[in-house]
Amino acid sequence: MARSKTEKTGNERPKLSKAQLRRSLRIFSYILPFKWYFIASMIVLAVGSLLFLVIMQLPGEALDTVQGKGSYGMTLNQIFSLLAILLVAQAALSFFRVRLQAIVSEKSMAALREDLFQKVLSLPLGFFEQRRSGELISRITSDVTQLQSVFSITLVEFIRQIIIFIGGTIYILFTVFKLALVSLATFPLVIVMALFFGRYVRKLTKERQDQLAQSNVVVEESFQNIMAVKAYTSEEFESRRYGRSIQETVRISLKTATVRGLFAAFLITIMFGTLFFIIYRAMIQVQNGELDAGELLNFVVFTGIIGAAIASLGSFYTEIVAALGASDRIVDILENPDSESSFASMVQEEQSVVKLKQYNQAETQKAGSSIPNLKNAAIRFEDVHFAYPTRPDLPVLKGIDMEIKAGQQVALVGSSGSGKSTIVKLLLRFYEFEQGTIAVDGEDIRQFPLRSWRDQLALVPQEVLLFGGSIRENIAYGQPDLSEEAIREAARQANALEFIDAFPDGLDTLVGDRGIKLSGGQRQRIAIARAILKDPQVLLLDEATSSLDAESERLVQDALNKLMAGRTSIVIAHRLSTIREADRIYVLENGAIVETGTHEELANKADGTYNMLAKLQFENADA
Ligand code: ADP
Ligand code: MG
Repeated sequence: MARSKTEKTGNERPKLSKAQLRRSLRIFSYILPFKWYFIASMIVLAVGSLLFLVIMQLPGEALDTVQGKGSYGMTLNQIFSLLAILLVAQAALSFFRVRLQAIVSEKSMAALREDLFQKVLSLPLGFFEQRRSGELISRITSDVTQLQSVFSITLVEFIRQIIIFIGGTIYILFTVFKLALVSLATFPLVIVMALFFGRYVRKLTKERQDQLAQSNVVVEESFQNIMAVKAYTSEEFESRRYGRSIQETVRISLKTATVRGLFAAFLITIMFGTLFFIIYRAMIQVQNGELDAGELLNFVVFTGIIGAAIASLGSFYTEIVAALGASDRIVDILENPDSESSFASMVQEEQSVVKLKQYNQAETQKAGSSIPNLKNAAIRFEDVHFAYPTRPDLPVLKGIDMEIKAGQQVALVGSSGSGKSTIVKLLLRFYEFEQGTIAVDGEDIRQFPLRSWRDQLALVPQEVLLFGGSIRENIAYGQPDLSEEAIREAARQANALEFIDAFPDGLDTLVGDRGIKLSGGQRQRIAIARAILKDPQVLLLDEATSSLDAESERLVQDALNKLMAGRTSIVIAHRLSTIREADRIYVLENGAIVETGTHEELANKADGTYNMLAKLQFENADA
């Protein structure tokens, strides 16, 4: 497990430029399908806010009415009856607004989560090697949650307060102009301060989210490697690692709180200071008979409302800006151009599947045989050079030339780290390689649609990790409609049926996280059964029997031999004895092919690498 400092904190852009703002706003495209709900909720919101203003000036009117100076010509009882009716209407509006808003925010954010997940899945392996999965999980969970809270509450409140602010201001400007000017003079000051604090809070919030993502990495890695954690008694180490990370989050959060607190203190001082000053001025006017008591009451109430609106606008503003940061990171992933198959290109692919089918048909006709697809085609590696994207300076394959004839079985041997698995990964197009070609009958495999290409291949990897469901789901992975018999037959061929039937739940036995409840050999046999069911054109076995004991290996090898018969296959063998029958053996050393031939040919080279490997293995077996 790498504990290097390579993690990306996403701290590259602390400022919100125009272009980024536009990027962040792309999140709104997720609102579009619910735009009518959104518009409806905004209308309800506007009506509700205006209603609120109407309600709030009724007590002042009532006071004037009591003193015989009412301007609506209503009795006191009428005014309060109206107030009660409006209150009920206001309550109903609130209810609908909350409901509508929930529909918009829940459904749109669910769609965003689904898209994000799908997008992340579609990214090439290199992306996952550069970022840790805990961090990605954090993007899909907490970043979206942050957005969700903005869409469900903050944004609405923000707009509501703006309406109240504007409406209230217009009201006091029309009723008590001179006093209104004094209270509005404080407004620009608050705006400027809000912008200043907002920028700072946004930076801190981003830092906090990144730090939280890092903490998630620790949790995720420890749980995934729980066995290693316990075996090496590193519970304390991991706890401390997590503790440090969480403490850092707390530190940043508290710093954010300090800034927010300062902002709140500032607002209270300015707002209430101004409020009391204005009330003082107003009292003088009442004393001089320039102002009615009802007008004064309304003025005080409205100044309070406007003040509260401004104060909350400030904090909502910082929250919205923080959410823009989260949205920026999400768009970052959504618009990552490296995806293997985005929605658009999947549609294209569907069309180009036809191309591959046509190709296969043409091939079939050429060979004049009824065997479909790639079974007639040879795969050729020509001068393939490759370095992993995470280590671009370290060449892993240095000019691989290889030919795999149709239906032939080719074996790759070589010491660990010589590049055998990498060859298989390139054939699966897990990575792009910079130089050379891999071709099927002269046609570059890169021009085939990725999904249909991978559909032709089945890989049984060195290290099998299963999904947490049942054995049945794991064997039938990718083909949910298979019959019970087909699954059992594949399990039987993979020599897995015996141990499966020994479990009380049989095929429905749950395998635990990543298959933790099964032995390595059992997992390999499930992977083999999966490959048997896929019935691929090309079979890739990467040390597929390495975790089996000699007896099971012999049985499984039998099954594999049957599976490979007449099927193009690449076998990476950990035991040379299993590849004696291979049509051709390639010996790799340090990313280059140093020898090739049949077992007999290679065995006859007295000081060849193949013989040396065989000798080493023989000695190891003895020891
Ligand atoms: P083999 O299967 O022959 O044991 P591999 O093909 O797995 O060897 O690895 C070849 C070389 O590539 C090794 O030096 C290994 O460290 C490196 N390598 C393998 N996988 C990755 C990866 N995902 N990122 C970076 N380097 C890798
Ligand atoms: Mg390997």
